[in-house]
Amino acid sequence: MKLIKCNRCFMDSTAVPFVLIEEGCNYCEDFLGLEFKNVERKSELDDFVKTIKSAGSNKQYDCIVGVSGGVDSSYVLVKAVQLGLRPLVVHMDNCWNSELAQNNINHLVEKLDVELYTHVIDWAEYKLLMQAFFDADVIDVEMLYDNAMLSINFNLARKYGIKYILSGENISTEGVRMPQNWNWWKMDDKNIRDIASKKGVRKFVSFPLYTFWQSLMDRFIYRIKWTSILDLIHYDKEEVLLFLEKNYSYKRYPYKHYESIFTRFYQGFILPKKFNVDKRKMHISTLYLSGQVSRSEAHELLKSDRYPSETDFKADYAFFLKKMNWTESDLNIYLARPEISHNKYKSYLPLKIFLVGLYRKFIR
Ligand SMILES: [Zn+2]
Repeated sequence: MKLIKCNRCFMDSTAVPFVLIEEGCNYCEDFLGLEFKNVERKSELDDFVKTIKSAGSNKQYDCIVGVSGGVDSSYVLVKAVQLGLRPLVVHMDNCWNSELAQNNINHLVEKLDVELYTHVIDWAEYKLLMQAFFDADVIDVEMLYDNAMLSINFNLARKYGIKYILSGENISTEGVRMPQNWNWWKMDDKNIRDIASKKGVRKFVSFPLYTFWQSLMDRFIYRIKWTSILDLIHYDKEEVLLFLEKNYSYKRYPYKHYESIFTRFYQGFILPKKFNVDKRKMHISTLYLSGQVSRSEAHELLKSDRYPSETDFKADYAFFLKKMNWTESDLNIYLARPEISHNKYKSYLPLKIFLVGLYRKFIR
């Protein structure tokens, strides 16, 4: 199929759905429709901080900040402390952490004098689950990380009676939304269980599976909110990086989400090779549309290699094979097999769509 490109942003027809609209496409049209202004919304921010403080006034912590070692979540943590919040810092280590990520987190936690809870995933079971996802030829292998991370955060929120989980999500660097065919719904435990069962895993011993039902309980019964403060402040990635480097010995990554060795190998090699997906198109479109990079800078970024150097790529390649116990031929066979959609496996997605429809019709 011929590749159709948007003339305004950097998305193209590898994204589904992709529709050209007047000067742009559905992705930039939606983003510009948000009328996002990257400025501090002081009174909203003050109100929000007051709400968090009062909800947690008699608790040990008033919020959770999940950190990955990346710039977005690192800045949320700094901001939370500056605003006088008392966060419990949560990090999940799926055994693919880059040393850079670990160092970034350690420096932040030490300097801000906050408490860090690290959950280290049991590698043997996690590895088996990752293998099941590879064998299933589905796109969203990172769904395992995201699902477990949600589980750890919400479990701690329930344990300590915390009502707010602050994430690093933000419009300023992530506003162009993820195309439907580039990932899967993270709370689809039925999908995870079905894919795992093909590998003989019927019971999870250590993997902290976050179920759709638990997510409904957390939202409607426990009333725990997953939210972000970055959209309420002025958030310029380059400024923030310089600030973190100067004050918290922060080390930057060449691209977004490169804090985990698997994530960078997945985004930099597996996704483009096997699935014809380059997530940089989305990230760079956001930076361009929000005025953080010029058109020529955006072009340069997209043209540049996904890896800072061939040596870095070779190191990750070797690390991946060793960690997964794969030979080079295993990897080549995997890459050559066609993709199978997540919806070829059992899924709660139809149920979720039905429930969301009911909710919109009768409750909201
Ligand atoms: Zn566009």
